[in-house]
Amino acid sequence: MEGNLNRLLELKKWRNSVLPIVRVSYVMQEENKYEQEEFFEKWKDKVDIIDYQCLIDYKDWNVLKEPEELPLPEIDFQCLNPFREILINYNGDIFPCCNNYGYYMPIGNIMEIDLVQAWNSDKMKGLRNSILNKSLCKVCRNCVAHNSIQ
Ligand code: SF4
Repeated sequence: MEGNLNRLLELKKWRNSVLPIVRVSYVMQEENKYEQEEFFEKWKDKVDIIDYQCLIDYKDWNVLKEPEELPLPEIDFQCLNPFREILINYNGDIFPCCNNYGYYMPIGNIMEIDLVQAWNSDKMKGLRNSILNKSLCKVCRNCVAHNSIQ
């Protein structure tokens, strides 16, 4: 895979093109937590975006627990996703983020409401507020509980 990516980057350079925008993602895990700097040094002069993400354990993601069953994170958790993006699925269904847990909070369908309505919906506002006031709604609390930042 790395070979293919390097080939793509060579082609992009050869064509002197700004596209495609290339992002590499580092999924932080116990096994690689000391390699972040090395990863950055390896890609910093090659790609457009270097992204660091936490590993999310999806093994029981189909079981949504009640907030009382899940402790709030000990760290100062912040999620930017619902403040900068919204997801429209292949069939037009709209969700607050691209995380699987976001599928538990359908906002509507693009054939019935427009993006501005979805963005300003009570559900989106409630979810954003729960992040800002650190209470974390049910969906986000389940998401965070399965996140390797814990
Ligand atoms: S479910 Fe909540 S915490 Fe998880 S990515 Fe989506 S908005 Fe962020």
